[in-house]
Amino acid sequence: MVFYLISFSIRRKPRPLSIPTQWAKLLTEVVNYPVLSSLSGLVESGVVGKHTLAAAKIAHEFGHVNQMIDSDGAHYKHQLQLVQVYITTLLSNGHNARDPRLNELTREIGGTPLELREDREYLAEANAMLYLRDRLSDSARLDRRFFRKG
Ligand SMILES: [Zn+2]
Repeated sequence: MVFYLISFSIRRKPRPLSIPTQWAKLLTEVVNYPVLSSLSGLVESGVVGKHTLAAAKIAHEFGHVNQMIDSDGAHYKHQLQLVQVYITTLLSNGHNARDPRLNELTREIGGTPLELREDREYLAEANAMLYLRDRLSDSARLDRRFFRKG
């Protein structure tokens, strides 16, 4: 499996990513998207159709929509502002994650920006999982009916 950087220059050919970069990208996908990355493997092996994967991705995105609907908009906006302050602080302090200002921001945000992102992605993945539970149980019922004798 080879990943390519998307190049916006017409003259340039996409260049392959280095092996460590490929592994880092793959690891990030597996950690942040456990449902979709697992499903991708099943699509590649032909167990699950690609349309099911596409629908699961849409279900994942609807998971984010549900989070937005269920959240307090002002709190969400405040969190985003604090995340920006966190990132700016981290970039300006030489990437010192033990900076007391970051600890205070982490407390106000309710976690580090990375933890916040992981929480949101996992909730969206849970929505994809609910879709798959319904989809695959319907498929199983159809399969049982199709193969029933007599
Ligand atoms: Zn997501």
